[in-house]
Amino acid sequence: MQKQVQQYDVVIIGGGLAGLSLAIQLVRKGFRVILFEKEVYPFHKVCGEYVSKEAWPFLEALGVPLSEMRLPIIDSLLLTAPNGTAFKTKLLLGGFGISRYTLDYELYKIAKREGVVIKEGSKVEDVVLDNNQYHVHYSDGSSTRSEIEARLCLGAYGKRSNLDVKWKRSFINSKERRLNNYIAVKYHVAGIKQPSIIGLHNFENGYCGVSEIENGKYCLCYLTTAAMLKKAGGQIRELEQNVLSKNPVLASVLKQSTHENDFPVTIAQISFSRKTWVENGVLMLGDAAGMITPLCGNGMSMALHSSKMLALFVEQYLKGVIGFDQLVSLYKEQWLKAFGGRMQMGRGLQRFFGKPILSNFFVGLFRLFPLLARPVIRKTHGQPF
Ligand SMILES: Cc1cc2nc3c(=O)[nH]c(=O)nc-3n(C[C@H](O)[C@H](O)[C@H](O)COP(=O)(O)OP(=O)(O)OC[C@H]3O[C@@H](n4cnc5c(N)ncnc54)[C@H](O)[C@@H]3O)c2cc1C
Repeated sequence: MQKQVQQYDVVIIGGGLAGLSLAIQLVRKGFRVILFEKEVYPFHKVCGEYVSKEAWPFLEALGVPLSEMRLPIIDSLLLTAPNGTAFKTKLLLGGFGISRYTLDYELYKIAKREGVVIKEGSKVEDVVLDNNQYHVHYSDGSSTRSEIEARLCLGAYGKRSNLDVKWKRSFINSKERRLNNYIAVKYHVAGIKQPSIIGLHNFENGYCGVSEIENGKYCLCYLTTAAMLKKAGGQIRELEQNVLSKNPVLASVLKQSTHENDFPVTIAQISFSRKTWVENGVLMLGDAAGMITPLCGNGMSMALHSSKMLALFVEQYLKGVIGFDQLVSLYKEQWLKAFGGRMQMGRGLQRFFGKPILSNFFVGLFRLFPLLARPVIRKTHGQPF
């Protein structure tokens, strides 16, 4: 007898902020939703863990009890150049600190409670679109591959995944050297005291963010090129001692901090190149649709925001009000309107950050003329949603 394949309205690939928040919204609209996440919750993820306040009302509406969690509120930016020149300014909207371990887990618990079918520890290996039906093939650690079927498939699988490689997405082979092949390292640390401030410390070909998260801990997370790590013999400690520590402010932060167990967590092959919205019939959101450079401190709120705009159009599509082409064009139009300018600004900033002479010059300039920093901050951020 043939095994019956399970049927859903929507399948979401990836259970980070974009995927989980979309799943919650769609299940609340009455759809049958299944979400695949290759890891098992709760888990750590490389991220600076500074969330722009833009996302506060949306996260609360989803059911994350932010107001009760006594999270650190961050209202100032401390920017330092590779030579240690420092510039401090108030942030326009500001943000708050929360680890991805906690935030993603909170959303996971809400999604599960509200009826999303969550397949954790399950990696999607391929998606085949046949006769308006998506066949999703996944593996869960056992030797056999399984399949489910859905009317719509959404890709929320983050910056780079096995599916990007399988489908040969254009950014995988992009030659834009300044926007590709970055690595990132994250620690949770104790020993630092800089409440209400996000530190953004530049060093040769990279930058390091430092800000408070829950329970008095700090997140220390840096991004640099794969070439810099190679130059340090592939050794993170060498890199920190010989490159990051050339910035005297960062050297003192690194010296004061003691790492928690389970850290560092690292990732490689990060790309900020442009991405397509649809691939292989799968509609993308969050980092899978385009990743803003981390120095903007805005990727998480954009991932959440993209899920909010998409939920509305997906509902119309599943109810037969609009077709697939219209779904794509409406979403793309809104996405570009909300994020196009910020992405462009982020790419521009990424090009000059990490070049010691330029970063020393600009931080010195901001020190002399603080108001010059305002438009840069404004252009990389949005409004509460
Ligand atoms: C170094 C660094 C620092 C950053 N700092 C900040 C910051 O301070 N503030 C900020 O707002 N943003 C920051 N960001 C950006 C932020 O982390 C991302 O924009 C955000 O995580 C995007 O969420 P997402 O849901 O799109 O992707 P993710 O959170 O990456 O979720 C994708 C999920 O998909 C899963 N997955 C992948 N492939 C598959 C598959 N085939 N099958 C099943 N599951 C799969 C992954 O395991 C993952 O859990 C930073 C990014 C980097 C790299």
